[in-house]
Parts: sequence; structure tokens; C-alpha cells
Amino acid sequence: MDIGSITATVTGLKTAGDIVKSLMESKALSEVSGAITELQSQLFSAQSNAISANAEQFAMIEEIRTLKEKVTKIKAWEREKDRYQLISPWQGAVVYALKDSMKGMEPPHWICANCYEDGEKRILTQQKKGSGFVKILCPKCGAWFDSIMRHSNGILFEYA
Ligand SMILES: [Zn+2]
Repeated sequence: MDIGSITATVTGLKTAGDIVKSLMESKALSEVSGAITELQSQLFSAQSNAISANAEQFAMIEEIRTLKEKVTKIKAWEREKDRYQLISPWQGAVVYALKDSMKGMEPPHWICANCYEDGEKRILTQQKKGSGFVKILCPKCGAWFDSIMRHSNGILFEYA
């Protein structure tokens, strides 16, 4: 809630309070009727200001939450991207491969160089296109390339 909204809301409520006070002191029906109309107007105005301020506050909270998520994602990607190195498995093909020192229990795999540059990890998949031919494909951006490859018992991307 910004200072302008707070001031407008407080001023509106104070005016409404003043009207109620004068209403209680007043005895003439016409004065009471006019005061009630003014009171309703002030309450409506104060309510509108409060609703507007709440909407602004909600928008700011949502923006902060979104920015925190982005920072967390960027930090996670900075750690993850260091696990890969750019390689050219054959002429005309460039991918990021999991570094030997980072393999651990993970099977060897490649990730898309296009998506890597956009800050995303997308594991490349392969499609068999006949005996020995394999199409390497990114499931996100659609980047692909062909090569004559041999697929042997679960070892991905072994190529001749
Ligand atoms: Zn991609």
C-alpha cells in the first residue's frame, strides 16, 4: 500500500467519522438525509481506495514471488550448466555432453546446445530411422541432426 492510498483511505474514513459525529448532534431531518448521502459517498470512496491499495499490494507480492523464482532458477542453472562441456561429436554437430567428472550415477547423455544458450537443459533424444541411422532431436526447440550411428545395448550416441 503506497502513502497516497493510505492517506486517501485515512482521510476518507476521518471525514466519514466527522459526518457521523455531526449527524448525532443534528436534529433536522434534511440535515440528517444530506449527511447520510455524504457519509455513503465517503465510505464508498474509502472502500475503493482500500480495494485499490490491496490490489497494488497483491500485484507487488506476486511480482516479488515471480522474481524470487527467476533468481532461484538462474542460480540452479548456473550450477547445472557447469556439469556440461561443449563437444562436436562429428563434423556439423555441436552438443553439450555431461563431463566425465560429473557423471556419478547418471548415464551418458547430451543436451541441446540451442536450449543451453537459452538457459535450459533439454536432453537430446534419438529416433531410429533404419539400420544404423539415428535422428538426434531436441524435444523442446525441435533442433535435430542426422548421423550414421550405431546403437549398442543401451549405450546412447555411440557413433561410427
Ligand atoms: Zn533445444
